[in-house]
Amino acid sequence: MSKVLIIGAGGVGRVVTYKCAMHPEIFSEIMLASRTKAKCDDIAAAVRQDVGYQNIQTAAVDAENVPQLVELIRSFEPKLVIHVALPYQDLTIMDACLETGVHYLDTANYEPKDEAKFEYSWQWAYQDRFRERGITAILGCGFDPGVTSIFTAYAAKHEFDEMHYLDIVDCNGGDHGKAFATNFNPEINIREITQKGRYYENGQWVETEPHEFMKVLNYPNIGARNSYLIYHEELESLVKNYPTLKRARFWMTFGDEYLTHLRVIQNIGMASIEPVVYQGQEIVPLQFLKAVLPDPGDLGENYVGETSIGCRIRGIKDGQEKTYYIWNNCSHQHAYDETNTQGVSYTTGVPATVGAMMLLKGEWGGAGVFNVEEFNPDPFLDQLAKDGLSWQGVSDIDLEL
Ligand code: NDP
Repeated sequence: MSKVLIIGAGGVGRVVTYKCAMHPEIFSEIMLASRTKAKCDDIAAAVRQDVGYQNIQTAAVDAENVPQLVELIRSFEPKLVIHVALPYQDLTIMDACLETGVHYLDTANYEPKDEAKFEYSWQWAYQDRFRERGITAILGCGFDPGVTSIFTAYAAKHEFDEMHYLDIVDCNGGDHGKAFATNFNPEINIREITQKGRYYENGQWVETEPHEFMKVLNYPNIGARNSYLIYHEELESLVKNYPTLKRARFWMTFGDEYLTHLRVIQNIGMASIEPVVYQGQEIVPLQFLKAVLPDPGDLGENYVGETSIGCRIRGIKDGQEKTYYIWNNCSHQHAYDETNTQGVSYTTGVPATVGAMMLLKGEWGGAGVFNVEEFNPDPFLDQLAKDGLSWQGVSDIDLEL
């Protein structure tokens, strides 16, 4: 039985709070804190009513302010901080965990605000300090990164002697009925998908123009979708932890309508993170765009269809070439019925909660900074299926890649 501090009250924070509340035998008390306390209060009220969990408090915190974080942690005394605010706050929250001796878990790697750059270097640099303090930092425990990395670890453990080719495939086959909306924080999402593509081949990173490579891939229960090669952060740790990989790529589906909107947004400068002066005030165009786009947390009610995310792997087992595809499909409607959010928040928040359970139950742990593929995948995947994200694996099929 442990106290947990959840930071961030967006779509993902809502799911994590619901899911922790569904496991009172592990999460005995919850503190939900975010920049806007009213959002925490809304979620807490919904959790009290829908789940019947009463041991929940809320607080306002600026997660970029270490002394504020330290004060909150010292007053509540959690065993673990689950960080589901924004990637800009990873380092300040890690600093506060170091100061107070509390474990840390997040779902996205640190990004500096002024540069859309996706790499683990900043967080890996905390390795010695976490080790010396005797606490655990779990990095990237959402779906991707997160479950995709754990699927890869499962395949390495049970299906292959050597993995050679890894393709992570991420399809949102859902429809929210809006002309344009992003499925998680628009600022973070647009920064991610408008950058140049990158993949790993024969020991080197190969850069591509944004959306330069497209393949039509078939997804279970969804069908054929245009899938674009983009860079995604888990590739960096996976090629380091699985050095037999000759190639590692990440593919994400986008519809034509979505890409047209994105092109217009970029062409007119609204995707820019360079501040401009508007009516005497400095604003960042992409942050202004976020303010006028639909809130991803509100998309759930009319969302239909499914997400399908998995890993397609080729390698060697018992001297023979083999292929393996491991994936999860998640229905947006199921996610909404259970937590009042759409599938993308759900597929991020459930793994974050299950990762927290693994740590608090002692299945995962150790002193230092870890990417999730470094832990035992088996208890995590068992619990993931029990908590709403079942998964399947098939061998020796055409991977299309
Ligand atoms: P939202 O934008 O909906 O929510 C972010 C929350 O963080 C808001 O409550 C916001 O507060 C709060 N916040 C922002 N800045 C601060 C701050 N300085 N101090 C305290 N709180 C702050 O995002 P999502 O819920 O969609 O996503 C949450 C995280 O999950 C993101 O980091 C995202 O990158 C990650 N993610 C990971 C995925 C994965 O599979 N690994 C997939 C999808 C998302 P306010 O309401 O005041 O703005």
